Amino acid sequence: MSTTLTIQQQDSAHCLHPFTNFKELNAKGARVIERGEGVFVYDSEGNKLLDAMAGLWCVNLGYGRQELVDAAAKQMQQLPYYNLFFQTTHTPAVELSTLLAELTPEGLNHAFFTGSGSECNDTVVRMVRHYWASKGQPQKLEIISRKNAYHGSTMAGASLGGMAFMHQQGGLPIPNICHIDQPYWFEEGQGQDPQEFGLERARQLEQKILELGEDKVAAFIAEPIQGAGGVIIPPDSYWPEIQRICDKYDILLVVDEVICGFGRTGEWFASQTFNIKPDLLCLAKGITSGYLPLGAVMVSDEVAKVITDANSEFAHGFTYSGHPAACAVAIENIRIMQQENIVSRVRDEVAPYLAQRWQELAEHPLVGEARSKGMVAALELVADKQTKQRFAKEVNAGEVCRDICINNGLIMRACGQTMIISPPLVITKQQVDQLVTLAKQSLDDTLQALS
Ligand code: PLP
Repeated sequence: MSTTLTIQQQDSAHCLHPFTNFKELNAKGARVIERGEGVFVYDSEGNKLLDAMAGLWCVNLGYGRQELVDAAAKQMQQLPYYNLFFQTTHTPAVELSTLLAELTPEGLNHAFFTGSGSECNDTVVRMVRHYWASKGQPQKLEIISRKNAYHGSTMAGASLGGMAFMHQQGGLPIPNICHIDQPYWFEEGQGQDPQEFGLERARQLEQKILELGEDKVAAFIAEPIQGAGGVIIPPDSYWPEIQRICDKYDILLVVDEVICGFGRTGEWFASQTFNIKPDLLCLAKGITSGYLPLGAVMVSDEVAKVITDANSEFAHGFTYSGHPAACAVAIENIRIMQQENIVSRVRDEVAPYLAQRWQELAEHPLVGEARSKGMVAALELVADKQTKQRFAKEVNAGEVCRDICINNGLIMRACGQTMIISPPLVITKQQVDQLVTLAKQSLDDTLQALS
């Protein structure tokens, strides 16, 4: 049997990891995750870790759900693969698109399947431009996004995203994509009324549309809550103003719910939580609880009509668009969510409990703000609680805290000096207690390590 060390050596020799500093990885060796059960994963050294990130924001029903395994196996026996190209279809894709049309906000009745969130956003870029071209406005090419947004890692996904460190590699963003400021009150709005700040940030969209020319802008894209940017929950004033501006200038509104979809904010979709009316809605991750890769762009009746009535075909698609086994898992995932009332349980019980317990961490000397919405939450680490001054960058406070968390048995993620969580939606109140206890312990240890 392979020991941890031999796995790590082979890993370093042959496996190139996403978003990883290879020098650090090779010095330490990767943590080898062997199995999962409920909200816990276990590594090859026998450590039990409470996975407060649900993998990468995706294992919503937790690890070890046999029904999802059975759904995949059954579909693989019957038809492991077929595609939706060239006028063919199969029942899992048809059933899932019908189900999604019922579940998602009104008017989004058409699904374009992809293999991932990034592929959803590549699809968005191509689809909105094709839509406007088909309507006789091919000059409407510009897509407006936000700084510090995350929309994936493909060329288009990373370009739509507003992560400066990603743009520094490979000559991004691609043309005709631009970014306005984000509604991140803690980092950029202190001293200002949060609602005023939210309005001001939303109105940057209007300024940008006017600057580019109304007839040049195809769409605005945003995550309802910026996830990878640091669980940035916009002030209440933000989304209504964005909606007003998109409506006024006839700009398509694309809502990226790759993280927020499927119950994470306490409604099936965050568009319902924030009362947003998307023209396109991107889904992935929680659609299968991460058990198989799948994404879907939900498309409004109006956009779908233009695309389906167009004279030319929409020349876009992936080999695994609507993979039958992934669709079968998604159908079963949704069935379990409905049967176990996961969304109302999150909204009425677990999220309010998490919010209450999470707020206790705001008292900690290292914490400048504790915030949560549904089942995502963040802690802002500060060097000075009164002035909210941050640590010097080279201190790597977030990474220090993250490593301490893992050593204490808790998987929390660091975004700079913001610690974030997105636990499985099936987490119990008792496990929330455990999470908060481990987080508190880890903050204490971090404080000690940094002083
Ligand atoms: N959009 C959002 C909001 C995301 O958080 C992510 C991934 O974290 C993506 C898109 C990209 O999804 P994927 O990694 O499946 O390509």
